[in-house]
Amino acid sequence: MSSILTILLLAALVALHFWWRWKLRREQASSRAELARLAQSEHNAAAEALARQNAIFDSMIEGVLVLDENGLVSFANRAFAEMFAAVGILRGKALLETVRSHEIAELAERARAEGRVLDHELKLPGEPERWLQINAAAVTAVDRRKLGTILVFHDLTRLKQLEATRQEFVGNVSHELRTPLAMIKGYTETLLGGAKDDPATATKFLQTVERHADRLTLLIEDLLTISSLESGQIKLNLQPVALLPVVEKVFSELRLRADAKGVKLLNQLPPLSVTADANRLHQVLSNLVDNAIKYGRAEGNVTVGGRALDDGAIEIFVQDDGPGIPVESLERVFERFYRVDKARSREQGGTGLGLSIVKHIVQAHGGKVWARSEPGSGATFLFTL
Ligand code: ADP
Repeated sequence: MSSILTILLLAALVALHFWWRWKLRREQASSRAELARLAQSEHNAAAEALARQNAIFDSMIEGVLVLDENGLVSFANRAFAEMFAAVGILRGKALLETVRSHEIAELAERARAEGRVLDHELKLPGEPERWLQINAAAVTAVDRRKLGTILVFHDLTRLKQLEATRQEFVGNVSHELRTPLAMIKGYTETLLGGAKDDPATATKFLQTVERHADRLTLLIEDLLTISSLESGQIKLNLQPVALLPVVEKVFSELRLRADAKGVKLLNQLPPLSVTADANRLHQVLSNLVDNAIKYGRAEGNVTVGGRALDDGAIEIFVQDDGPGIPVESLERVFERFYRVDKARSREQGGTGLGLSIVKHIVQAHGGKVWARSEPGSGATFLFTL
């Protein structure tokens, strides 16, 4: 009896042992699964945070570059890669391999060593010329351990270009104003010095003074027009305008000039109507026809024509049969003070601002203007409204 009991007890103990082992394994498996789940969700959260951080940095227009404590790239955003045309994986690369600029490498090193924010302006070699402003700072942990360096790159190219254009404009304006003023002063001094006593010479000199004063007035009027067009002060009075009467008015105002050069003014416009500011449209046509007479051939033809385009816009052209414009100047003639032949333009009384005004007015109407020319066979200026 007792041996049966012992056997039963032993069997129960063995069963209990196996049950415990089974239970332990199950618990271990479940905690392992729980741990794996936790690790996975932590990993997912970290990946999501990293993706969000990258998205934020990639949406910046400034380039951002982070270097680790060994000076190797640990992060670079999209703008940085675009600025330096860097392709492939940048992480782990040396700074010089990425930017190829000793100036930037030195700046990063100084920021790391000095532990303060440094500001630096840099002109990148190559064409087109590019300017960058760089802020470099050491990245320091809470326990003051140096973790690396962060560099932020701002593209200053557009600002520098604007500044250069502004300086060039001021230089040009001063030059354009100085020339007629010097003439007025010179002739006045000669008159006062005795020339006034000879009526014939006095008249001739005074006419020259008047011509230069007129030129100054014209220049100042054009400058004021450009300035108000550029600052957007001019409000367009948009109305339906019949084109034929505008062209006829321009022709009648410029007929004397055309006759003096034996130029024929031809109106080939079909009866079209546009929505435009009539005065500004008149100014555009007047400038273009005036140029065509000025720079066209003596005894030549100046033709105005146009057509309705499929998209509802109207295209108008002013054509002459003069010497035309060299290909490399076709776009530049719309720049302020640009002239193909400076001496000739001044001699014709041009301010160098006419086509720039034309461009501004056409663009304010939502249209575009361009020039076509086969040197030797005339120039055609076209614009859409
Ligand atoms: P400008 O007052 O000198 O005429 P514009 O801005 O009107 O200034 O024109 C710029 C330059 O474009 C002119 O100086 C001239 O060299 C060139 N140009 C303009 N129209 C013509 C044309 N029809 N044929 C040839 N050259 C032209």
